[in-house]
Amino acid sequence: MKLYTIDTELFKLDGGAMFGVVPKTIWNKLNPADENNMCTWAMRLLLIEDGKRLILVDTGIGNKQDAKFFSHYYLHGNATLDNSLAKHGFHRDDITDIILTHLHFDHVGGAVLNNNGKLEPAFKNAVYWSNTLHWNSAVQPNPREKASFLKENILPLQESGQLQFIEGPYTTTVQNGAALPPLHTIHTPFTADIAIRYVNGHTDSMMLPQIQYKGHTLLYMADLLPSTGHIPLPYVMAYDMRPLDTLSEKAAFLQEAADNNYILFLEHDPVNECCTLQTTEKGVRLKDTFTLSSL
Ligand SMILES: [Zn+2]
Repeated sequence: MKLYTIDTELFKLDGGAMFGVVPKTIWNKLNPADENNMCTWAMRLLLIEDGKRLILVDTGIGNKQDAKFFSHYYLHGNATLDNSLAKHGFHRDDITDIILTHLHFDHVGGAVLNNNGKLEPAFKNAVYWSNTLHWNSAVQPNPREKASFLKENILPLQESGQLQFIEGPYTTTVQNGAALPPLHTIHTPFTADIAIRYVNGHTDSMMLPQIQYKGHTLLYMADLLPSTGHIPLPYVMAYDMRPLDTLSEKAAFLQEAADNNYILFLEHDPVNECCTLQTTEKGVRLKDTFTLSSL
């Protein structure tokens, strides 16, 4: 197996929204905001070459929305999905599978393109993977999350026939009235070296791919841990649907990561691709940062 970082555009989001209840006097030292209170974030994807499969985790924001939409996000930087794939000798048509951690626009926007007015899958040879519970909440969004689930990013996937669901914990039949195991302990096998983990605080049933790679365990953190700046437990984004669930899920995942020296792959960190964690007197904190290619 080989793993590659696929950088796409950088974008900006409101710093206050990214850090929830943490005051700007604290977060601004780590993530300096611009004159509009916006901070820069990455949309960093992971490409997995696994035997005959070429699996992409998330797709970035894409380019099909109008100028008004993009005026809110200040896209910048030189990387694009296509030029990052090309850097490693790949083309989007080589992708066999796309794991969509969740269907918010900065993760799924690149999954669909506008081909002369027709919305169609941007990866014509790929199966797109979501899960039933997340899909249902994306197509019938609650009013608070509605602005993140854009129909044009989602419905064309189903219409194309390229969408499939990973059977998550919510579709498991519980035998003899037994309770489901705690969510953070559930692993759904995807390939021999890839399993899917689940969290519920950011959005319903977000998927975190966990990969065995060169003797390491690598966890793709998606929006459970957007950046190294979010490691202390109360640093939870205001975007999250259930911040207290995020807090307990973070506590479980970060402790597991510190105890087992997992490599955490950071989708939104503007600087750091990967990090490891350690337990300190103050709780779990950053240990090292490094690039994926240095492994
Ligand atoms: Zn995100």
